[in-house]
Amino acid sequence: PELERTAPVRHRPALSYELFPARSDVSFERLRETITQLEATAPDYVSVTSRTGHGNLGRVLELTEHVLAETSLRPLVHLTSIGSTRAQLTTIIHALLDRGVRGLLALRGDQPDGHRLEDDEIPFARPLIELIRDIERERTAGLAGGRVSVGVAAYPHRHPESPTISHDTEVLVAKERAGADFAITQVFFDPDVYTRCLDRSHAAGVRLPLVPGLVPATNPRRLQRLAAMSGVEPPRELLHQLELAAEETERRRIGIRFTVDLARRVLDAGAPGLHLFTFNQHAEALDVLDHLDLDRWSTTSQGDAR
Ligand code: FAD
Repeated sequence: PELERTAPVRHRPALSYELFPARSDVSFERLRETITQLEATAPDYVSVTSRTGHGNLGRVLELTEHVLAETSLRPLVHLTSIGSTRAQLTTIIHALLDRGVRGLLALRGDQPDGHRLEDDEIPFARPLIELIRDIERERTAGLAGGRVSVGVAAYPHRHPESPTISHDTEVLVAKERAGADFAITQVFFDPDVYTRCLDRSHAAGVRLPLVPGLVPATNPRRLQRLAAMSGVEPPRELLHQLELAAEETERRRIGIRFTVDLARRVLDAGAPGLHLFTFNQHAEALDVLDHLDLDRWSTTSQGDAR
């Protein structure tokens, strides 16, 4: 039968926040407050980072269980393959699915210098995606219910270990074919770097939503630490301005203005949403959103009555 048309439905761009597990009970209390503040903006999910080798698994589970049991939010749990055996990863995936987690970010993790792969270690993100999909098939016996949403990392700048940027694009194609549903990008500071990544990916056949990962660029030391980890340098001019700022409020104004401008430009270029690396600080992420008015990029579609 023909469906009756109803009022148009508005779709806001996707919104998500990255959190890292607490290192102590005191920081867990602070983190709970941060989550409460972020929850008020109704994000699509919050992501929970994890260390390679899953040395902090207890804290990852603590945060994940808190999000599931005490908030309205959905967790996206980061899983890294390096430093864990296939059997350990299988146990962790089952433990997360048993708790009701339905979002996983499949990552290789950063390889420590001189790391030698063990026989039963999963060397790249792609086979980890396959493992997740195999476990999902086994658990649901092919039924669609409770499908796991699998995200992956994408690199607008060349990944430090990749020979070329087109190699990164091929890796992303392979991750999509293995069953990834969406990608979150590594940090970048130039909107053209993101749009070129979108163009390259589309030309290579990638159809995954590529959600830009943005850091509220207010803290010069944090930006430098991030550069050391990711190989992505912040603009010198921005660093210079942040370092020259006489007061914290001035530094914050400069950093938020920069980040809001970057967010506007990527949304104008067709970004499907924003993923904010919060470093467990809600104030700056909320500042970015306040100045942005995400509803400006909402789209509408016709709703259908059942
Ligand atoms: P892969 O996609 O496996 O790629 C790793 C390298 O291998 C790349 O250089 C790629 O080009 C190359 N490669 C892949 N497949 C092949 C192949 N078949 N043959 C040859 N070369 C290949 N790290 C953490 O430890 N914990 C986290 O919580 C975490 N969260 C992150 C969140 C986001 C949004 C991003 C962007 C990164 C995150 N990282 C995290 C960092 C990530 O683990 C590193 O960037 C890591 O070096 C690569 O992970 P990957 O999943 O992209 O690996």
